[in-house]
Amino acid sequence: AISQKKLPSYPGLDRWELLDLLGTGAFSNVYRASDRENKENKVAVKVLRKFEMNEQQKGNVKKEIEIMRQLNHPNVSELIDCIETNQYCHIIMKLSSGGELFNQLVKLTYLSEDLARHVIQQVAEAVLYLHQTLGVVHRDIKPENILFESIPMKPSKIPRPTLAGEEDKLDEGDFMPGVGGGGIGVVKLGDFGLSKVIAGVPTATPCGTMSYAAPEIVRDEKYTTEVDMWAIGCVLYTLLAGYPPFYDPDTKVLMKKVAKGQYTFDSPWWNDISNDAKDIVSRLLTVNTNERLNIEEFLAHPWITQPGKMDESKE
Ligand code: ADP
Ligand code: MG
Repeated sequence: AISQKKLPSYPGLDRWELLDLLGTGAFSNVYRASDRENKENKVAVKVLRKFEMNEQQKGNVKKEIEIMRQLNHPNVSELIDCIETNQYCHIIMKLSSGGELFNQLVKLTYLSEDLARHVIQQVAEAVLYLHQTLGVVHRDIKPENILFESIPMKPSKIPRPTLAGEEDKLDEGDFMPGVGGGGIGVVKLGDFGLSKVIAGVPTATPCGTMSYAAPEIVRDEKYTTEVDMWAIGCVLYTLLAGYPPFYDPDTKVLMKKVAKGQYTFDSPWWNDISNDAKDIVSRLLTVNTNERLNIEEFLAHPWITQPGKMDESKE
């Protein structure tokens, strides 16, 4: 244990022993921690540095916690406790030990349609809950904020019909859908730092990550729950292709592409992807918010509900 890196200790956080750093943000560090009374009880602790924030940023933390207190859904990060001191705010959450979808994507480059569906369907269930039950817009849906509850299991060595021909791109330690010997299990949507209760009122606060931001945000117009649908479209495109739909090193050029909804299903990367998959992505990456799929329409699309029919549509 001598090799263990020195972790900071925070006043008021005595119950939790920090084990290692899981992630960092502009004003926060997220640690894996265990209960000193019961070492088996592991959590994630988001330590927010209030002393580095202005009043508005502190207000955002309040909002993040207020929203997290209401959350109760299998596909959404769960709040356990919140400990506030003068300088810090500690958000204690249920631990998602499988880490970020982002890291799995870096490892695998891209996902099969079955894996992509398995992940995005759970994200969509979380979004359905946020939009319809809580009236909350997430506003920051991206692979860094999508977490796996448990460590993705190693794939079974037995080939299975749903993934015929896919085996070659899977490495040891990578995962497969919940069939046979493998399983990626439960997916959780986290990071409510930019979420907002909208209750039907469109807002106009620019936020989120530019690559996944909807045209109406980029153009500084009023927007609402549809921005999450655009982001789901960007994530799904990225999962299937291994690169995002909108990208440019020059932010101005990138913003123009997003505002116009300029993207393509490039060859050769999209050659073997089903028409149903392209259809659902294009219905999400639709500039006109009235025509863009809402969360219910997304979950009712054939690519989600009739995966078996996928190959027929390729013919
Ligand atoms: P930020 O607002 O700084 O992006 P996040 O809430 O997204 O903060 O947390 C930053 C990172 O910490 C995440 O991308 C993820 O890697 C990790 N993380 C956050 N919450 C959890 C959790 N409950 N379990 C495991 N890792 C987490
Ligand atoms: Mg985040």
